[in-house]
Amino acid sequence: MNASQAGKQKIQIVAKTKSEPKQGRKEAPNSFPSNVRSLIATGMLDGVPVKYVALSREELRGIIKGSGYLCGCQTCNYSKALNAYEFERHAGCKTKHPNNHIYFENGKTIYQIVQELRSTSETLLFDAIQTVTGSPINQKAFRIWKESFQAATRELQRIYGKEELNI
Ligand SMILES: [Zn+2]
Repeated sequence: MNASQAGKQKIQIVAKTKSEPKQGRKEAPNSFPSNVRSLIATGMLDGVPVKYVALSREELRGIIKGSGYLCGCQTCNYSKALNAYEFERHAGCKTKHPNNHIYFENGKTIYQIVQELRSTSETLLFDAIQTVTGSPINQKAFRIWKESFQAATRELQRIYGKEELNI
């Protein structure tokens, strides 16, 4: 092989390596809720206590309910479910990412928890959900979600083929 051929081969290898993450490695299909809103909408976290924490302000307590937060401010007194932005406003704050300021009992934010669960392997996922907030979760909603998650996983398995998923 002469120098020019060797150079060409090198370029080809570089090009191949570069495109690898896009084409070579398929992302493992996963039907886990991909954001905070869809996680809360499963109802699994209904009844789990949270608090909005901001520097220089008193923290505001809340409880996850339906697709929002039962607000613990004096006016609402847990009688009203608010979305994250409204809940944040009742805490006297205004940011672009309220979910980064809403904490569970164990000191993790709701945003962190979604990220954590999304990177948990499917074999560990169901156990991880039970303990991830540091508070008991809603078992009835969990069972319903688990069944639909498993059905969705089987469907993905059917589409993508068994060897891709390894469950
Ligand atoms: Zn309120």
